[in-house]
Amino acid sequence: LIRFYATEQAAPSRESNPEPPTLITRFEDLHTLGVNERLIQSITKGMRYETMTEVQSMTINPALRGKDVVAQAKTGTGKTLAFLVPVIQRIIEAQPELERPSRKRATADDIRAIVISPTRELAEQIGEEARKLARNTGVRVQTAVGGTQKNAMLRKTRAEGCHLLIATPGRLNDLLSDPTSGIAAPRLAALVLDEADRMLEVGFKAELESIVSLLPDRNTVPRQTLLYSATLPKNVVNIARTYINPANFEFVQTVR
Ligand code: ADP
Ligand code: MG
Repeated sequence: LIRFYATEQAAPSRESNPEPPTLITRFEDLHTLGVNERLIQSITKGMRYETMTEVQSMTINPALRGKDVVAQAKTGTGKTLAFLVPVIQRIIEAQPELERPSRKRATADDIRAIVISPTRELAEQIGEEARKLARNTGVRVQTAVGGTQKNAMLRKTRAEGCHLLIATPGRLNDLLSDPTSGIAAPRLAALVLDEADRMLEVGFKAELESIVSLLPDRNTVPRQTLLYSATLPKNVVNIARTYINPANFEFVQTVR
């Protein structure tokens, strides 16, 4: 009976409208969307996560299909992985040799993706999670936060290179506006604004505007923008309007 019901129900709708893309909810199934196997294994074997949280499945799927994303979800719902997975995948797609670890020198101006986070602690946490994810790939992750030795960070980044930079707004603005820092993103492919509401609360609007003016023009160097926030007050909506591609974005709001 169940089989009959399923067939009867499914058949007409399949004919009348094209099937929506399957929503992947298990990390293991990400390979059907072309996600790098090493990246998937870091999640399923390294971190031992099987099933995506709601905000993860609802944003990883459209982000992997190239959409910009504006997502509202509560604290503790797994937003970090939600943006790191598509961002790291995008870096590998832009530079396929990064699929596996390599001794080849990377440079400080090879940044493909930037994650902006409101606080030093959050940026460090994101950095740790990104390093776990990128462990078996050639993607180099660096963090740039205020309050730490700028010169030590610069030395490390120049020596190791950087494809994914996690930064707080003040320090990022400082590094990008200083031409002697060597840190640059002329081929930026993805920008993440994490905890956008907190960034604005802390008063980072001017830094964010300055940072975006220092990045390549997205009409010349197309980039994907992902914005995550626990709340969506008017100032966050305005930021989203400025940074998100209005012609190709997904708005995600989760309740859990
Ligand atoms: P948020 O940024 O939304 O506040 P985090 O990204 O910090 O949330 O994740 C909260 C916690 O949930 C972290 O400890 C993280 O390791 C864990 N976590 C994330 N995704 C999953 C998942 N799919 N399955 C189980 N635990 C997860
Ligand atoms: Mg978070």
